[in-house]
Amino acid sequence: MIIFKHAADLSAYLERQRAAGNRIGFVPTMGALHEGHISLISISKGNENENLTVCSIFINPTQFNDPADFQKYPVSIEKDIAMLEKAGTDVLFLPEVSEMYPGGTTGLEHYDLGALETVLEGKYRPGHFQGVCQVMQRLLSAVRPDDLYMGAKDYQQCQVVYRLTQLMGLDIGLLACPIVREPDGLAKSSRNVRLDPDQRSRATAIYKALNTIKAGWPALIGHTAAGEPKPIPPADWSAAVDKLTSKATGILESAGFRVDYVAIADERTLQPYDPGSDHHALALIAAVMGEVRLIDNMFL
Ligand code: AMP
Repeated sequence: MIIFKHAADLSAYLERQRAAGNRIGFVPTMGALHEGHISLISISKGNENENLTVCSIFINPTQFNDPADFQKYPVSIEKDIAMLEKAGTDVLFLPEVSEMYPGGTTGLEHYDLGALETVLEGKYRPGHFQGVCQVMQRLLSAVRPDDLYMGAKDYQQCQVVYRLTQLMGLDIGLLACPIVREPDGLAKSSRNVRLDPDQRSRATAIYKALNTIKAGWPALIGHTAAGEPKPIPPADWSAAVDKLTSKATGILESAGFRVDYVAIADERTLQPYDPGSDHHALALIAAVMGEVRLIDNMFL
């Protein structure tokens, strides 16, 4: 695995690879790697069209709306490098903050993200997605990948980055890869190491809450014999949705979570799901255990 610390060196190397006809798959991360991240590397490596898999590790200060979260973000760079080597990663980009933001981290670009910026994560983490775009614009410009591999755990982030690729006029394939979970269902996350053993065992309530919504969903949406959606009248609909999301909220609160949101949303717009829609519905949760904020989602 070749490690680059400077964007110019990385770009020059990848330019030579492209000129030789090689396609590039890219996995951006903030490090503290786990099997969820490695699954993205493996999916890129397993894609026979990809010749080179590039990973980046950069804890991006501009996407942390909570300074304490940034300060406490776990770092395990030597272990990360060993994991990436083992997974067969070709290139690691490991820049310093001054490399990514030579002019500092204030007064940066602003992106028009539409309603994505004000719903769910956008609402609870003001400025977060602007920071995600600021770093992703720099990473995408340096790597210029053919395909970008991201985790569906951060579902809204996938949509934001897709929007960024459109704003940048890039022709990149964005693959939202399946959520990798612990055996008890908790989605793997770099932040899980900050949970103490008791919090860690109670954190499975997120998976239980998502499964409760999924189990209650068929009765709510209704189906005809032919499997066609049979929408419930809107008045009953919102009351029925509230009942189901309240049940999930109860599961989370009983486990000691402070709930930011439990939502049932349209897979494309992330707005509250309209039962007349032919899009899929998605349950999304954000909740805080102690000082650790966790997110997860599940297609219904
Ligand atoms: P992060 O280091 O948290 O910024 O995550 C880097 C990438 O890994 C993002 O695209 C995440 O969505 C993805 N990722 C994080 N956790 C998981 C997981 N449990 N399963 C699949 N992908 C994940």
